[in-house]
This record gives sequence, C-alpha cells and structure tokens, in this order.
Amino acid sequence: MSQACYTPPSSRAIRVEKGVPVSIDLQKISEVPQAFSEDLSLGIERLDPDIVAGTMEVHLEGRIIPMEEHHLIRGTFRASGPVLCTRCLSPIPWKGEGEFTVELRPPLTGREDEVELDSTELDVIFLEGSMLELEDLAAEQISLELPMRILCSPDCAGLCPRCGMNKNIEGACRCEPEIDPRWEALRSLGSS
Ligand SMILES: [Zn+2]
Ligand SMILES: [Zn+2]
Repeated sequence: MSQACYTPPSSRAIRVEKGVPVSIDLQKISEVPQAFSEDLSLGIERLDPDIVAGTMEVHLEGRIIPMEEHHLIRGTFRASGPVLCTRCLSPIPWKGEGEFTVELRPPLTGREDEVELDSTELDVIFLEGSMLELEDLAAEQISLELPMRILCSPDCAGLCPRCGMNKNIEGACRCEPEIDPRWEALRSLGSS
C-alpha cells in the first residue's frame, strides 16, 4: 500500500552563521529572484591539494533566478589564498576572480529526452534535492580559475631530484651533481 503523506514545505531560514555551511533552498525561490552575498572559507579538502596550499577565503555574490523548470544562478566571486609553486612546492599567495552563470537542474533520471542541454556556454549543476550549498558552488568556480602552473619566481630553482630539498634555500641541499662520495668510499672499502 502506498503512503501519500503530505509534507509541508520547509520553513527553515537560510543559515548564515560563521562556520555553518551556507545553503539556499531553491524550493523557496519560485517567483522572484533572490540575491545572496556571502563570505566563505574553503578548506583545502574542498579544492585540489596538488594546487592549493591552504584555506581559500572567498566572497561569493549573485542572484538566483527562477525559471520554468529549473533555476539559473548568475554571480561573481573573489578568492584569495595560498597555492603551491609548480616547481618547488612552496606556498605563494594567489588571488583570483570571475563571473559565472550556472543552471541548476534536477539529476537526469531517464528523462534526458525532455532536457535539452543545448545551452553550450552554460555550466550545469545537477542537484539532488532542492538545497544549493554555496561552498560547492564556490569550490567549483575557484577550481576553474586556479592556475595549472604558477611559479614563486621566474627563476625558481625547484626541488633537488636526489634529496627533494628546495634548491632556492641556500645550503638546504648539498648533493653533488656527480656520484655521491660516500658511495665511492664504500666501494673502495669493499674492494680492499
Ligand atoms: Zn618555486
Ligand atoms: Zn639534494
């Protein structure tokens, strides 16, 4: 027997407390656009740890626009935080900003024919349920903007391929380009 319980729409307010994930209930945005403006801290686990060296501070703002069958979100972000030098892996400060327009749609579940994904320039986020997590949106937008290659200085010496030390730090690495003299000493011990 099927149960047909009526669940009233949630009346929970948008949480904006510090440290609490900021989410927006799209169910409540059905007639007029809703603006948002948030400052978020994104931990390294939300981003690519091969590129990012620590927490990113993000200002995210924009408008959520209700469409007939989905929502559109237009906004801008400004982010700052440490990223890793591609050569020596030292953290260096980075700032980035960008604009975005993203479609928010329910997941495709056998109704693909009805959804025409012809909007070639739009990003689409498929949402399970009606809650949009602003951290997810911010993490995705920052990931698109992060540099694939960035150097702490144009002449960064990088890491020593032998000991892994940062060759920019004077005296950190004493590796000789030639054969390590200790191996020479061992060899002569063995042959005597
Ligand atoms: Zn470097
Ligand atoms: Zn070395």
